[in-house]
Amino acid sequence: MLKLSLAKLNDLFAAVSAGCTLYLPVDDPSSGRANYRKWTEGTELSRALNTVRSAKDFFFPQTENLVDFKMKGKEIEIIDPRSEQEDFVVFGVRACDARSFSILDRVFLAEPVDTYYQSRREHGIVVTMACTRPEETCFCQSFGIDPTHPEGDVSCWMDEENLYLSVNTEKGKKFAELAGGLLEEGGEEAVKAQQEDVSALMKKLPLANFSTDKFGGDVLMKAFDSSKWKELSESCLGCGTCTFVCPTCQCYDIRDFDTGNGVTRFRCWDSCMYSDFTLMASGNPRTSQLERFRQRFMHKLVYFPANNEGIYGCVGCGRCLSKCPISMNIVKVAKCLEGEL
Ligand code: SF4
Ligand code: SF4
Repeated sequence: MLKLSLAKLNDLFAAVSAGCTLYLPVDDPSSGRANYRKWTEGTELSRALNTVRSAKDFFFPQTENLVDFKMKGKEIEIIDPRSEQEDFVVFGVRACDARSFSILDRVFLAEPVDTYYQSRREHGIVVTMACTRPEETCFCQSFGIDPTHPEGDVSCWMDEENLYLSVNTEKGKKFAELAGGLLEEGGEEAVKAQQEDVSALMKKLPLANFSTDKFGGDVLMKAFDSSKWKELSESCLGCGTCTFVCPTCQCYDIRDFDTGNGVTRFRCWDSCMYSDFTLMASGNPRTSQLERFRQRFMHKLVYFPANNEGIYGCVGCGRCLSKCPISMNIVKVAKCLEGEL
């Protein structure tokens, strides 16, 4: 275990960012909400529990150019717009978001590998931060995630005086090397005490006993045919907010943009909640919001675990609980359906 006095936190960020680009959660002064920003001198680390947008943006950005086509007469030149990817650090990732990367890996690193995502994953150093003040919307523990001991290349804990660091991987060693002589040995006792306090707190959260166990096994047709989807989906606005804030949602669209002298092919996040998500030349197989709504929750609670050794497509980050304009969310859906399973 290594530690650093919080008085030297700025020195740590300066040392790391001298070696590679450093991103960390920062409070937006106008909204007070936290989001990831690139560190520059004077940037303050947010103390918010989590960012509004999840850390998945670093590996699966909201929009990205995939390929350019340039026309020269009847010739078409195909250009890969990617430049050499450099190492970067994402600091302060919470345990739920850190776990979401392993869910995204199952999608993007399965054959055929998504090389855009793969390159970012290989170059991104993930430095996680243990939670000390979980909110009422948190339920990561329902998915076996320990917010007092987050995964990552480096795991961190913070108290009023110090930052404590545990280096877990080779990439984590690079982070520690960038920190140079700032880190010193020690901190095991302080971390253990914090873990015990926060674990006790987690047991008191309103969703401490929330379980998705009913969705294990062969419930596919029972869940799909449930009569509850109608009342659950009735007020859904189809706004897609839940999918855009979700760290594990991974749907995207690919489109071509005519630049005037060529074509840029790009991809951007899409949402299964949108009415044209499944629109094809032959028509649209999901013509109602009920079908679209059902798809999102069936994917996370039933289809994904059925195809991924029982791993659910949710990490209990609570973002959809706090951001949906009609207060609909995966916990309400699971609780409503489980009586019929
Ligand atoms: S479904 Fe909701 S709680 Fe689960 S990971 Fe996505 S945003 Fe977080
Ligand atoms: S469930 Fe809520 S956030 Fe998601 S699309 Fe419907 S209204 Fe929007």
